[in-house]
Amino acid sequence: MTRYVYDFIEGNKDLKDLLGGKGANLAEMTRMGLPVPPGFTVTTEACREYLRTGAMPAGLLSDVEDHLRLMQARIEKTFGDSRDPLLVSVRSGAKFSMPGMMETILDIGLNDVTVAGLARQSGDERFAWDSYRRLIQMFGRTVFDVPADAFETELAAARATAGVATDAELSTAQLQDLVYAYKKIFQEHTGRAFPQAVHEQLFLAIGSVFRSWNAERAVLYRRQERIPQNLGTAVNVMAMVFGNRGDSSGTGVAFTRDPATGRRGVYGDYLRNAQGEDVVAGIRNTVSLTELATIDPVSYRQLMSVMQRLEQRYRDLCDIEFTIENGTLWMLQTRVGKRTPAAAFVIAAQLVDEGTISLDEALQRVSGAQLAQLMFPSFDTDAAPPPLTVGVPASPGAAVGAIVFDSTAAAAATGPVILVRRETNPDDLPGMIASQGILTSRGGKTSHAAVVARGMGKTCVCGAEDLRIDGDSVTVAGRTLHAGDVISIDGMTGKIYPGAVPVRPSPVVRYFEGELSANGDPLLTAVERLMIHAGHRARLAVHANADTATDAARARRFGATGVGLCRTEHMFLGDRRQLVERLILADTDSERDEALAALLPLQRKDFEDLLAAMDGLPVTIRLIDPPLHEFLPPLEELTARVARAEALGEDPGRDGSLLAAVRRMHEQNPMLGLRGVRLGLVVPGLFAMQVRAIAQAAAARVADGGDPRPEIMVPLVGAVQELETVRGEAESVLAGVPGAPPIRIGTMIEVPRAALTAGQIASAAEFFSFGTNDLTQMTWGFSRDDVEGAFFCRYLALGIFAASPFETIDADGVGELVRIAVDRGRAARPGLTVGVCGEHGGDPASVRFFHDAGLDYVSCSPFRVPVARLEAGRAACRAGGSDSR
Ligand code: ADP
Ligand code: MG
Ligand code: MG
Repeated sequence: MTRYVYDFIEGNKDLKDLLGGKGANLAEMTRMGLPVPPGFTVTTEACREYLRTGAMPAGLLSDVEDHLRLMQARIEKTFGDSRDPLLVSVRSGAKFSMPGMMETILDIGLNDVTVAGLARQSGDERFAWDSYRRLIQMFGRTVFDVPADAFETELAAARATAGVATDAELSTAQLQDLVYAYKKIFQEHTGRAFPQAVHEQLFLAIGSVFRSWNAERAVLYRRQERIPQNLGTAVNVMAMVFGNRGDSSGTGVAFTRDPATGRRGVYGDYLRNAQGEDVVAGIRNTVSLTELATIDPVSYRQLMSVMQRLEQRYRDLCDIEFTIENGTLWMLQTRVGKRTPAAAFVIAAQLVDEGTISLDEALQRVSGAQLAQLMFPSFDTDAAPPPLTVGVPASPGAAVGAIVFDSTAAAAATGPVILVRRETNPDDLPGMIASQGILTSRGGKTSHAAVVARGMGKTCVCGAEDLRIDGDSVTVAGRTLHAGDVISIDGMTGKIYPGAVPVRPSPVVRYFEGELSANGDPLLTAVERLMIHAGHRARLAVHANADTATDAARARRFGATGVGLCRTEHMFLGDRRQLVERLILADTDSERDEALAALLPLQRKDFEDLLAAMDGLPVTIRLIDPPLHEFLPPLEELTARVARAEALGEDPGRDGSLLAAVRRMHEQNPMLGLRGVRLGLVVPGLFAMQVRAIAQAAAARVADGGDPRPEIMVPLVGAVQELETVRGEAESVLAGVPGAPPIRIGTMIEVPRAALTAGQIASAAEFFSFGTNDLTQMTWGFSRDDVEGAFFCRYLALGIFAASPFETIDADGVGELVRIAVDRGRAARPGLTVGVCGEHGGDPASVRFFHDAGLDYVSCSPFRVPVARLEAGRAACRAGGSDSR
């Protein structure tokens, strides 16, 4: 038969799946011989069974009884005993911590009889009655959904009658009256009396903790945090210890290092004469943990040694809950503690210095996502006023702007604006694009606002439920703000501030830029150290997507060892647009050749600058990719211009031919139209001009004593014949440029057919670069621009996507095409260089995928280069990974 209950003595910290995090860690502390009140854990399996069938699994109750007996024997008290009753807490505890999401009930085992026993035994009547009234309140609310207000109103009335300000001042007699009133409330709301049978109390409490797994807020929290919905929670039953028995008692929370900065030394709060929840609830003022050294030096020293042992055992920062009852220390909880990104880096490096973990392990203690957070500019919190409220931090960044309440206003605004809405929908896209940041009062991390903002890299705080948005004003924290009022929103913390909070650049970015040295700064030193180690371990190289010399130079400072994608279409914009127009409108070969000849020197100069910035490193230049009509004025604009001219009886001239060209070139699905290699094959001389510019630029660099390493990349190839044709033309152009170094020719793999026929394509390609944006669009059959705002939030909420496939590579679908292409390509051409240049190249989870898929490099935007470098190192020394030591 399945075992549903484990004594604390039986478990250990590795059994989180079965015992939940809290239970597994209580067991570990018990095994270590630390002072943990006796108890046992009901497994997550029992919870799953209960939630499936709606009833307690067979055998569970008798298992609980057996373990309760063991506990009674150990503590020499009996549950329900009228003279010296054992009381227990019933605590939820899932595999992943879900703070504040589920229930804990304290003081179970009190009834009309045992309350007197507790009073006599403790010599403190007031304490006993206060515990009893807390139990009825917590039990009624949690197990029977009695509205919290019903009890709170009664409590407030009791304070008023007694003429006191706090609960602590209520006398025993007043608490006894309150218990009577509470029992009446309980009866009114539940139609039954408050259970006097202590075993019934216990079982009802266990069932309600099981059910709290499916409470709405818990379901929502898991969806946001991507915690599976089917894990269930364990339930910990534990003997009560009391921190509320006078001044030699108290309760506290502590961290073994500072979770904000990572600094060494203990951090925590202590509250005298209080029960657990009072510390977190912030009811009374806590003192810093260091004061415990004076209040109770013996317990303090013991606590310090416990914390040291916990750190040694967990080899990481731990956070703990403890209680002191009449000078005796009890440990109530521990776990590897959450920390800020900065603390994660600092602590990982410290633990290496202390000899606790290896550098490889240290790399696993930090993440690219954390590094990315450290690279955003942040608000100068010293200069910030208190926040108005806090919402869900959905897309990082620090945005300041004037409030606008609708998209039209946002799009029309001249200065920076923050779009404030209840929620957003696809109609808001133009407004979102025009805003610095987006703030909503509804929805979580998968809401429309959140998904779209992340896709755009815009700051977003959503679900700020305290905001009352009312047409053209918003009320929060007693203040009413109007359109035009300036606010600041922090996408990292979710805080919303009035006015313009000063923004400061990230010190980590300044360090990468070479403006700050790591010397002496704990965070920068830690970042430097881990980045260097990641560099040693990484097998994937990291290149950057950079179109200009400026971007390339920055990418190089950030550690890129090449340019993986230079998009040449940027070189056809601005003044040069006219030349492209001439090219498109050319009626004769000579007109076309003239336009191309005019573009050639401009391109050559662009390439020379880029090659100089990346001297000695590969620079992969992609031939022009977008449809040419993207370089022409929009249809509406031309139509209006021509109509105006005609109305005035003037000759529309060039506008007339442009309009005709735009009409002629119009495409229903430009993404699937005349672009990429297709363009090169139908517009004579276009690719040849670009190839010549590249070769001449390289030759010029060589003549200047440089070491240029350009590569030519052909976009959108689906068939080897396309590539062969372009290649043939390119090779003859290259042969005609004296002094140019050898230049490799390769292709993007971004059309599913290219991935499938990669074996053939490799015969004409010296390298592959996966264009995972297009490959994702074409594999799924949707266009990013159209779908991200239209249905992605729905798909994320439904769990069809675990993450947007444009943020993190879809490993099962698109990823399979990548694996196929790598295999077939390398089989046909051993040593084929394979990289990726889609935006996925800078996404932590995707970098791991590309490492596993055997790529040679990832290429991403300059700003994400450090993140990719860190992740490349982490991927190489992941536990169990093929490269791990
Ligand atoms: P959470 O997971 O929300 O922190 P806990 O299960 O840890 O909830 O319990 C809530 C509070 O009650 C904590 O402060 C905890 O220390 C306290 N507590 C839980 N069990 C006991 C106990 N047996 N004796 C004394 N205090 C307890
Ligand atoms: Mg806790
Ligand atoms: Mg593409």
